[in-house]
Amino acid sequence: MKIKRIDHIAIVVDDIDNALGFWRDALGLNLSHVEDVPDQRSVVAFLPTGASEVELVKPTSRDTGVARFLEKRGPGIHHICFEVEDIEDALASLKADGIRLINETPQIGTGGKKIAFIHPESTHGVLVELYELTGQEPEVRLARARRLADRVLAGGQAMANSALEFLRGLGGNSR
Ligand code: ZN
Repeated sequence: MKIKRIDHIAIVVDDIDNALGFWRDALGLNLSHVEDVPDQRSVVAFLPTGASEVELVKPTSRDTGVARFLEKRGPGIHHICFEVEDIEDALASLKADGIRLINETPQIGTGGKKIAFIHPESTHGVLVELYELTGQEPEVRLARARRLADRVLAGGQAMANSALEFLRGLGGNSR
């Protein structure tokens, strides 16, 4: 199996805004966006760090693994996610090595990506997620980037308008 990089580190928090006080404001990471992820019953803040991301995950329901983790252990690192080249191949290889898997076959995660979890019992206490980039996902990312670009452009237009207003005002004063 081939690990390509760490995709993200997920940190469970009980309050996103409060957590951003450290992760964004004090540490200086950029917040790309905060997203409601209904199929995971959580809200996630994404903070890119080069080729990887820090994800702050706040459960929105009490009956998820993340919610139980928070209740039992408090805020902290929930899992580490590696991007692999071929997730089926990775799972087969781990299984052959006697590694305990939570998902023996890949699940379809947010944005259509293929994911699977390895049981902490086999990883020295760390929940490990594997992820394979699928053909579908770049389109989801592209759609998200377009929405963001639209927002930036709309903001830019508003700024250009107010700059024009300002210049018009200056013109008026000089007369
Ligand atoms: Zn994850």
